[in-house]
Amino acid sequence: MSEQIKYRTRVAPSPTGDPHVGLLRNALYNYFLARQSGGQFILRIEDTDQAREVEGSIDRILAALNWIGTVPDEGPFKQSDYKDEYLKLAKELINKGHAYYCFCSSERLDQLRAEQAKNHQAPRYDRKCRELDKAESEKRSLTEPHVIRMKMPDDEEIVLRDAVKGEVKFNSNEIDDQVIIKSDGFPTYHLASVVDDHLMKINLMLRSDEWLSSSPKHLMLYRYFGWDLPTFAHLPLILNLDRTKISKRKNDTSVLSYKAKGYHPLAMAHFLMFCGWNPEKTQDTYSFADYEKLFSLDRVGKSPAVFDIKKLDWLSHQYFNQDKIDDVFAAYLVWLGDKAENTEVEELFIKLARENHSAAQAMLDIVRMRADYFTQYSATAATFFNQDKLGQLSAVDLLQDGKIDKVEAIKALELVKQSISKIEKSWYDEKSAEKRSKQLNEYFRQVQPAELSPAAYLHPTRVAITGEKQSMNMFEYLSVYLLMDKGVAEIEHRLDHAAAILKNENN
Ligand code: GLU
Repeated sequence: MSEQIKYRTRVAPSPTGDPHVGLLRNALYNYFLARQSGGQFILRIEDTDQAREVEGSIDRILAALNWIGTVPDEGPFKQSDYKDEYLKLAKELINKGHAYYCFCSSERLDQLRAEQAKNHQAPRYDRKCRELDKAESEKRSLTEPHVIRMKMPDDEEIVLRDAVKGEVKFNSNEIDDQVIIKSDGFPTYHLASVVDDHLMKINLMLRSDEWLSSSPKHLMLYRYFGWDLPTFAHLPLILNLDRTKISKRKNDTSVLSYKAKGYHPLAMAHFLMFCGWNPEKTQDTYSFADYEKLFSLDRVGKSPAVFDIKKLDWLSHQYFNQDKIDDVFAAYLVWLGDKAENTEVEELFIKLARENHSAAQAMLDIVRMRADYFTQYSATAATFFNQDKLGQLSAVDLLQDGKIDKVEAIKALELVKQSISKIEKSWYDEKSAEKRSKQLNEYFRQVQPAELSPAAYLHPTRVAITGEKQSMNMFEYLSVYLLMDKGVAEIEHRLDHAAAILKNENN
């Protein structure tokens, strides 16, 4: 039996702002491949393009990885800390005849590119400095601005064996003599990423499809250095719904913005796992242990994945509704605490949570059935705190525009008040809000007097209690209110208040 290779995998983001959803998808795949083989998952920060660096990016990358749960085993390592190492290795390539100093000015290169464009040729360096005398270039390099370029061979078919794409062939004549050290002495992505993957002993190298075309340059660098190749795997691109490459303009691509909106992290993980991968048999929800067991590169597709936010919303709903309510409650409070500013409703909720844990939790238990993520929770909870509407109650609304008889309505309000005071104590002990509201519904049906029509009985009651003319489920509302301190008294007061409005009505 062959021994399982322990995979050392990595993600290598550039610190250029908010971590992208694509990074997180790649992190998940890398993380599970490392986990399932007993290897390590490494975070490397590719900060060799210092002009593009955005302050705070590394913290944000770590926050995104932590939120989803793909915490790196090693790192973050920063490439800028190893600047001299890359230069040393690039000079080694010059000595071996695989690279050369290039002194061409940017003006010359611009002119070259303009001419090539005019002749409908692909932009390429014309290798002018490749033929310079080695000793002379060495000398010039001490005083003149320069870059270092790698030599691409002529007339060679370079073959990539990719774990996802299969065999991909490149014609070396179509590939530029890539700059590997820039004029500021920093390496380009190509050199730095190959050197680091080698030095960090990465043996399974996953990255997005957009880098596929760079692979022949990387394969050549491995050959020039005489290093063993890792397994390469290029992961499908993620697209907008209209099948253009995912962009900020059409989608929210920032991982942390989904965290800020209060999405369930496992829903985000599920959503991103399926941006490119499909298990043999699907299930509704997954744990990290499931992915560790099920994930395999064999089932990663070649074609791009589509980012459909509606699916993410739906998943977030599923995951929150299958969690224990205590966990959702705790997570929601943490989320509220992390928010820079809370809305009025959120402040009311926090106050309720402090004063009456079970009423607040019951409210959340109802809210989670109606909303997908925490920002929506806050909007949905608003109906429970909607006191203004009670002050605007009118006879017209209570009597459904005259469809309900006033005398019957007044009677219903009084009967409901009596029934509420007689609710069994055991009802309060039921843990699930859904069951509690169903039981309340049942109870109201039992005590409903035969002489009153259901509409006359329930409509004025609902409007009196919730202040809402339509849509609000009164039993859900009550199932929360009756748990509140002075909740019964408050409901009785609302019923009396509505009855008084009807009694004062002179028609
Ligand atoms: N720095 C590259 C990026 O941010 C990493 C590509 C790779 O994984 O090699 O996309």
